[in-house]
Amino acid sequence: DTATLRQLDQSHHLHPFTDFGNYARDGGRIISRAEHIYIYDSDGNAMLDGMSGLWCCNLGYSQKAIVEAVYHQMQELPYYNNFFRCSNQPAVELASQLARLSPADFNHVFFTNSGSEANDTNIRLVHRYYDLLGKPEKKQIISRKNAYHGSTIAASSLGGMQAMHDQAIGLDYVHHINQPHWFELGGDRSPDEFGIAVARELETKIDELGEERVAAFIAEPIQGAGGVIIPPDTYWPEVQRICDERDILLIADEVICGFGRTGTWWGSETYGIRPHLMTFAKAITNGYMPLGGVLVSDTLSDVLLGSGGEFTHGLTYSGHPASCAAGLATLGILEETGIIDSAARDIAPHFQRRLREFIDHPIVGEVRGRGMFAAVELVRDKGSRERLAAKSAGAVYCRDQANNNGLMVRQTGDAMITAPPLVCSIEEIDILADKLGQALDATASHYGI
Ligand code: PLP
Repeated sequence: DTATLRQLDQSHHLHPFTDFGNYARDGGRIISRAEHIYIYDSDGNAMLDGMSGLWCCNLGYSQKAIVEAVYHQMQELPYYNNFFRCSNQPAVELASQLARLSPADFNHVFFTNSGSEANDTNIRLVHRYYDLLGKPEKKQIISRKNAYHGSTIAASSLGGMQAMHDQAIGLDYVHHINQPHWFELGGDRSPDEFGIAVARELETKIDELGEERVAAFIAEPIQGAGGVIIPPDTYWPEVQRICDERDILLIADEVICGFGRTGTWWGSETYGIRPHLMTFAKAITNGYMPLGGVLVSDTLSDVLLGSGGEFTHGLTYSGHPASCAAGLATLGILEETGIIDSAARDIAPHFQRRLREFIDHPIVGEVRGRGMFAAVELVRDKGSRERLAAKSAGAVYCRDQANNNGLMVRQTGDAMITAPPLVCSIEEIDILADKLGQALDATASHYGI
């Protein structure tokens, strides 16, 4: 029963990213099943999943074709590795499908189990590339504050989350510049002015480190876990210019943005970015199986393959047949249904419109979003942007109100975050917006506003 499960969970299960004090006191929910865009806990409560799991179940929870593809593959070939000179059919097909669906100069894929490992792989690929070019001094990597790129040592070093760095991570060849978060950092500047200024921090950092030592810049097209930070229109063109002129590889972390979240297949497409490497994970299998990887452009793969040597990197489950079968089935659904285009055309505008109405709410300072991706920033005072409460307590309260009222949304800093499945209907977007509105009302009244 639920009470026993909860107690065993508290006694034996170390949860990722969970406040152990609160968890020991209150316990959590046991999620027992899911259907369409709803998850159900073991007490029978239904919750509309306004986060697509962890930004991964873009097609919701009832995609039988993915389940069947995995079942079939498990019967045929449940496992074999891709090391040395072996391969398996789903991995081969998925690599070629991803090459077809990515920008033209991406023709190779390295598979991992997760986004974190994929970002570690990026570092190894970039370092290997420059070693092969005879530029071993080019090792420094620039990332952004408040970024999330995963939890392994290297990926969390790339990340810029202070709370993670406080727990003693950080590789000495990784450096951070500011994020394009206009509401937080823009001050009196217009978003466009701010976009240029914050992009030029990249140039300043390159000068500081020495261009000949800088290998790559990594960023999400839209920073997700950091708070759905929508860059000003001027930001990405300026970053692209700097990377082009200064001979810096550009790594687009598409772990959240990829596969339709921003309204196109890739966040890089939405912003006209031309990366050299693209990290993917999460929605590649609709979250049903663990799978990540790196899409490698010809710039790098020509050098790696041309060397004829070995890239001494790999994971037991790189290109796992069952995960790749899930990936193939997911891509099949995305293409056959045209859901990326139809969600961008029919659902996302309504989602963005409904959320933007909250700008008139007394505790909302900014609403930002793109595609099926949005954040609502909470304030006590709209003019001064004073926060609702210390330590993001206002947003935590608001999130709990929403969760307890059957809506799964997240809090990041002082922002409420939502990224619902692309398969939501207009009516379901209305339910999401209504419930978020109720949580905002309850929070305002809790703080006497
Ligand atoms: N990159 C981004 C942008 C992410 O949002 C995440 C996870 O949330 C990761 C990388 C890490 O992926 P994983 O949790 O699969 O290791």
